[in-house]
Amino acid sequence: MYKKYHIWTIGCQMNVADSRQLASRLESLGLTEVAKAGEADVIVLNTCVVRQQPEDKARNRLNSLKPLKLSRGDNLVIALMGCMVGKKEAETLPDEFPFVDFFLEPSKPDLLVDFLRAKGGDALLPVAEDLEDYRLPDGEENAVCAFVPITLGCSHVCSYCVIPYRRGPDRSRAPEVILKEVRALAAQGVKEITLLGQIVDRYGMELEEWNLAKLLRAVCQVDGLARVRFMTSHPAYMDEELITAVAEEPKLCPYFELPFQAGNNRVLQEMRRGYTREEYIRIVKSIREKVPDAGINTDIIVGYPTESEEEFMDTYRLLEELRLDVAHIAKYSPRPRTLSSQQEDDIPGEEKERRRVMLDQLVESILSEKNGRYPGRTVEVLVESFQEKTGRWRGRIPQGNLVFVEADGAMPLAGELVQVAITWAGPYSMIGTLQEKGDETV
Ligand code: SF4
Repeated sequence: MYKKYHIWTIGCQMNVADSRQLASRLESLGLTEVAKAGEADVIVLNTCVVRQQPEDKARNRLNSLKPLKLSRGDNLVIALMGCMVGKKEAETLPDEFPFVDFFLEPSKPDLLVDFLRAKGGDALLPVAEDLEDYRLPDGEENAVCAFVPITLGCSHVCSYCVIPYRRGPDRSRAPEVILKEVRALAAQGVKEITLLGQIVDRYGMELEEWNLAKLLRAVCQVDGLARVRFMTSHPAYMDEELITAVAEEPKLCPYFELPFQAGNNRVLQEMRRGYTREEYIRIVKSIREKVPDAGINTDIIVGYPTESEEEFMDTYRLLEELRLDVAHIAKYSPRPRTLSSQQEDDIPGEEKERRRVMLDQLVESILSEKNGRYPGRTVEVLVESFQEKTGRWRGRIPQGNLVFVEADGAMPLAGELVQVAITWAGPYSMIGTLQEKGDETV
């Protein structure tokens, strides 16, 4: 009956993790993956609505599947998942997309499995009893890095963000379930685990005796892992215990994803972020005191309703002062049901673009300067994959910077920690040559 599946994914790492979980479940039912949607019996679109652009892409993609469904009828299942499908939307989407068979809310892959089993009857293989014996899907058997969600949803309700309406309030997955999944991934050869949450540092709020620092220390004990990361942190929940864990645990990468979104206190308050510019600066200082070589990435929104030129310049100056490592700049766009969508989106598009470009240029100059320190130094790289096109291996240093490694292309390097002498550095990547073991690492 249903033999082949195809999953299309757009959006954040949480969606990537959800798609991988779903692929693993579908393969436990006996389905195999196909690269083309037209060849599949089950097509899943995993969607993102955090901004208008990915939502438009998902809608276009979905509409392009309509003729296929009309011609194949019951022999094809089309499922829509991810942030397009919140509790409320699940009631209205069937009217808009009557050719879609199943709508499933984010992070609930088992619902689709149950649906297919009900439709497929005996033709489908039974699901492996212990679903926590999580298997990497076909084609990803050699994955070096994997994402593991640890908190689902978000309770913060920032004024501009649609996530709480689609993914619900936050809840922590049980530590023993997470550790079992991590062990299963490590046993299959995964070397780097990134623990995920919309506010990852809220992990354990409702659990006795657990918090993110404790969980990270436990994950670092899992045999076979080389590196552990976590994202995305929220400045209001970042505490000294967590920063100390990063400083002390050798496997815990000196890497923080810490969005500040705006550098002006009035705008931060409007956004309901829950911290001030001064508090954010204090956290960054504390991280740099305890973890001097830390990579700190951030997210910034420009053109929030009523953001004045002077307020935008506060954001510019904050980035300039803190010299963070990477900043993802987004232009504000109103999202349905959010508090800020009730306000006029009063900053013109060209002005948002001007502010975005200004920040982008600042990011680039900071990165050029910071990466400029690397040529001549030797760094530790976890090799992720080989790039046929360039003949180089691709990997990252613990701080997250991308490195292309020149080595003998025939050498089986993926998954290895290697020493690399950096020979060239640009703002967004570096190139280096493979060194013998024992060289000094920065
Ligand atoms: S913390 Fe704010 S921006 Fe992040 S997911 Fe939650 S509501 Fe959205």
